Amino acid sequence: MKLLEDRIRRDGKVRAGNILKVDSFLNHQMDIDLFEELGLEFKRRFADCEVSKILTIEASGIGIACIAARYFKVPVVFAKKSKTKNIAGDVYTAKVESFTHGREYEIMVSKDFLGPEDKVLIIDDFLANGNALLGLSKLVEDADATLVGAGIVIEKAFQEGGKLLRQKGLRVESLAIIESMDEINGIIFRRQD
Ligand code: 5GP
Repeated sequence: MKLLEDRIRRDGKVRAGNILKVDSFLNHQMDIDLFEELGLEFKRRFADCEVSKILTIEASGIGIACIAARYFKVPVVFAKKSKTKNIAGDVYTAKVESFTHGREYEIMVSKDFLGPEDKVLIIDDFLANGNALLGLSKLVEDADATLVGAGIVIEKAFQEGGKLLRQKGLRVESLAIIESMDEINGIIFRRQD
């Protein structure tokens, strides 16, 4: 998506450890006009799918998911990151290894908000090693819901997540796919039609 690629080129900052900082428009300050274009593009790419719920993970996925949900006209459920090891109550849980923080945490969704009747589209900001997506997929699986696919804003294709999840049969649509990035050559995007 050219608009997004141009913005990443203009405002993205490549940091050590394969981290791309996009705090000025995606992860801290949020450009809602851009989010509307992202939401519209997700809707266009998943136009052939029936979606009853959008699932994301706190915190950065929530804003994007909410704007996208306006186009799909469905509710958003966000998986909460739990601080306690054992979560009580009627919840689905999964363990996720954090890419940015380098530790494991548990995510959870109440059984009230995900069930066998749901057709779920996952939306998230980044796809790196795929752990967040794997965790979210497990929640959908445990709920006996149908996983329609995953919409990602920025995929870093030089990390394994995208390949791994597509091999598992998940439909992953990424609006910008980064082939490589470093301070000398800048950010190289994969061409998409
Ligand atoms: P994964 O679980 O695929 O390894 O990583 C995905 C999660 O890690 C995303 O939800 C995002 O919050 C975070 N993340 C991964 N790579 C980056 C990055 O380059 N920049 C930022 N800002 N977040 C990232």
